[in-house]
Amino acid sequence: LLQTKGLCKSFGDHEVLKGIDLEVRRGEVVALIGPSGSGKTTVLRSLNGLETPDQGTLAFDGGPSVDFGQGLPKQQRFAIRDRSAMVFQHHNLFPHRTVLQNVIEGPVTVQGVSKPEAVAHAEQLLDRVGLADKRDAYPHELSGGQQQRVGIVRALALAPDLLLFDEPTSALDPELVGEVLVVMKELADEGWTMVVVTHELQFAREVADEVLFLDGGVVAERGAPAQLFTAPQNERTRRFLDRIL
Ligand code: ATP
Repeated sequence: LLQTKGLCKSFGDHEVLKGIDLEVRRGEVVALIGPSGSGKTTVLRSLNGLETPDQGTLAFDGGPSVDFGQGLPKQQRFAIRDRSAMVFQHHNLFPHRTVLQNVIEGPVTVQGVSKPEAVAHAEQLLDRVGLADKRDAYPHELSGGQQQRVGIVRALALAPDLLLFDEPTSALDPELVGEVLVVMKELADEGWTMVVVTHELQFAREVADEVLFLDGGVVAERGAPAQLFTAPQNERTRRFLDRIL
């Protein structure tokens, strides 16, 4: 579904990504792990155009390969922007709109879905994550875990081909993390294609098909979780896991 080669990105003279190759197949869950500042979030944001890499290529779903080194015309959009949806660390819900209004906003205003159809879809999705009774609540009336589940529903409502998660549980109180991870695991089981930046190594181990360990802007190691977590080949991976697990 998605392939990048050699993504590089600097902020000023700080080279944050130094050539990231990434491949995501349809239905696969890819987890990005690694120390703080290693570039995980920047990789994720580069996939959907929230950051524009300086170098490298990105190909999505058989479409033309975008070459960032050629300099992107300002208005150039690429398919992945329209066909992916991101769940952020902070839910980013509109505070003065109800849960339902938040969820239907994208489909109605961006995708031109009719309001009744968007509402029906939103209600179905809210029901699925156990929040049907919160449709008319405002974000501040929900717990952090509920807010983040609404954030996931808002992403799902766009019916994307690819779900991008940027540390969706790292701002939550520990007791609220589980309910969000459960929803994410269900989505993985249902066959959604997901790229997940996470500090939840247990989740990565259980749910991911492939894990990429980033360190200093490079993929220091990649592999199936069973291999990477139990028999890491790279000394840096080993040290990271020893520190965390
Ligand atoms: P964390 O786990 O702490 O979120 P990360 O691995 O996701 O870390 P990034 O958020 O990708 O790391 O950041 C990598 C580096 O790039 C950091 O040193 C960060 O300060 C820097 N950085 C990220 N975004 C910007 C920006 N917009 N301007 C300047 N520097 C940035």
